[in-house]
Amino acid sequence: MRDNTVRMYTCGPTVYDFAHIGNFRTFTFIDILRKCLRANGFKLDHVMNITDVDDRIISNAAAQNKSLAEYTAVYTQAFLDDCANLRLERPEHMVPATEHIDDMAAAIARLASTSHTYTTDGSVYFKIATFPGYGKLSHNDFSGNLAGARVDVDTYEKSDARDFALWKAPKEGETFWETSIGPGRPGWHIECSVMAIKYLGETLDIHAGGIDLVFPHHENEIAQSESLTGKPFSRFWLHAEFLMVEGQKMSKSLGNYYTLRDIVGRGYHPEVIRYLLASVPYRKSLNFTFDGLKSAATAIDRLRNFKLRLETDRYPEGLNEQLEARAAAALQSFHDSLNDDLNTAEALAAVFEYVRDANSAMDAGEFRASNVAAALGVLARFDSIFDVLRPTAQAGQLADAQVDALIEERTAAKKAKNFARADQIRQELLDQGIILEDTKAGVRWKRK
Ligand code: AMP
Ligand code: ZN
Repeated sequence: MRDNTVRMYTCGPTVYDFAHIGNFRTFTFIDILRKCLRANGFKLDHVMNITDVDDRIISNAAAQNKSLAEYTAVYTQAFLDDCANLRLERPEHMVPATEHIDDMAAAIARLASTSHTYTTDGSVYFKIATFPGYGKLSHNDFSGNLAGARVDVDTYEKSDARDFALWKAPKEGETFWETSIGPGRPGWHIECSVMAIKYLGETLDIHAGGIDLVFPHHENEIAQSESLTGKPFSRFWLHAEFLMVEGQKMSKSLGNYYTLRDIVGRGYHPEVIRYLLASVPYRKSLNFTFDGLKSAATAIDRLRNFKLRLETDRYPEGLNEQLEARAAAALQSFHDSLNDDLNTAEALAAVFEYVRDANSAMDAGEFRASNVAAALGVLARFDSIFDVLRPTAQAGQLADAQVDALIEERTAAKKAKNFARADQIRQELLDQGIILEDTKAGVRWKRK
């Protein structure tokens, strides 16, 4: 790794429709991974692609009489909005496939010049028999597969490993690009190899996505990339298990899915969904239920109430040393659990056990004023990864920045001895459900 920077590629959404919360399970895991890497002192150079050309996009756009760009703009924006609502950090590069068509054509030409491809009726296929490592990621043995048998669709069954399409000849009425290798459009797999290498170099540190991408998508990415460069494509591969509904993968095709908008429409805040999706380690499948969402909301409330108690109650002077040691141990255990392959469930358990002990100490009058800072420190560390304590602003509610601006104005008014204006601002904020508390360290505020 160069200059302490993790070079990471994650497969992004196919923008043919709204993403569902199964997709967001994978994207939330990736966000937790980013934050944990940063907490360990790494910098990030992270690329996520936007698949804005594929069979479904082409047929949906045609059905609505729209250009591809018009059609995908709506769902790309919806994806970005959903990510922002789920507090997912923006990768350093978000790259649409259609802006890299010439790069893909050039890569296919290079694969052709090294005999990894053949062309049939204007479509170009990757010859998997030319890549002996085929199957090494998914641990499938493909030696019995027919050389020369090929497949045009992007995803297919394991038993069906075939030569796959790198480039698809234009079909009547379909969008295509004129390129150095002729007219057509890229297959799905080549976009990731080309954009990963272009932005991150020939060997990535981490490549991640959902578990369904292992085969064929990632197997095909490896075959293309390593045939192009002769170098290992990625040092580490991380795959999130599925979000399930009643024993089945949540998916568009099964119809058993909810979008983020569906769930928010039922009255759940995005941070509750974020918590639920993050709470089960990515290597375990997660069964989605509304009871699970309710428990997530309760868990967040417990932590918010604890924070409020820390910020508003008064405690006797002094330090409860035993409790201080508990806070330090909780922090260590939180950190260690996340560093144990992102064991989010254990990390949460460490925080909740500490909160239980601290609450009991408060009830018993054993919590001391000097224990407050470490307790707030545990919550801050927790929230730097899970990011759920800040409530989502309701429609019509003042945003945090507006509250801060009014508080600043009030402080200035008080300084200028304009107490009438200062009181007026306090009342205005109270009417909006915002309570101010003047402390030695400055003004603190919270929502009712
Ligand atoms: P797509 O938009 O279909 O390309 O999928 C975007 C991401 O969501 C990919 O990383 C998929 O592996 C992932 N994904 C799809 N369905 C699920 C699911 N039910 N649970 C978790 N991840 C999923
Ligand atoms: Zn990909």
